[in-house]
Amino acid sequence: MLRAIVSDIHGNLEALEAVLADVRRASAGALVSLGDFVGYGASPNECIARLRPHIEAAVAGNHDLAACGKLKLGYFNPDAAAAARWTDAALTPENRAWLADLPFRARWAGALLVHASPAEPAEWNYVLSPADAALELEAFEEPLCFIGHSHYPGTFGAEGRRIRYTRDHEVRLEPGHRYLVNVSSVGQPRDGDPRAGYLLWDDEAGWLRHVRLEYDVAGAMRRIHEAGLPRFLAERLQWGE
Ligand code: ZN
Repeated sequence: MLRAIVSDIHGNLEALEAVLADVRRASAGALVSLGDFVGYGASPNECIARLRPHIEAAVAGNHDLAACGKLKLGYFNPDAAAAARWTDAALTPENRAWLADLPFRARWAGALLVHASPAEPAEWNYVLSPADAALELEAFEEPLCFIGHSHYPGTFGAEGRRIRYTRDHEVRLEPGHRYLVNVSSVGQPRDGDPRAGYLLWDDEAGWLRHVRLEYDVAGAMRRIHEAGLPRFLAERLQWGE
């Protein structure tokens, strides 16, 4: 079955609409989210309302928990903290309760879903190098784990203890290998490519595709300005950084 995985939407409705339209075009039969539904962007409730009816599973991101008061803002930079406070005030009680109830891990289609780190799901570590990935791969049994959090798409593939990293968009899954897949951010890419991203996974044919899509960046920026959120949160969308 063709499956779609989204992550780090960050309240960016324009980016989410582009991704959901592509998921429909691809005829993906199932959709899940790796968290950070909210934070940074100006459409937190709209993004939850749009996504929630379509997802089979979801895990909590640090920005989701920060926005509903379950995570201290101490280690957030000033713009992220300001956005978390804005989001906290904007969320409906129902959406806040839903975010607060999201689990740290979920199993789906034989794979593991975690927002940041499979080894320490509540610690929000970044997995950026094969050395990071080696520790994480020892912490779970499943053949695949999908993570978000860094907003930096790529795939770590392990054959025994040997780990290879690739930023290829198309990845063939080799039988007997294990994978830790960093899924692109829908709403705030940080790899220098401003296009919205998500992942397609065909678990029968054995491939992954890191998909990138043009979307209405100007519209998302305008909403951030109108909401009175920090200007940098709008500007970074056009750079993808
Ligand atoms: Zn994020």
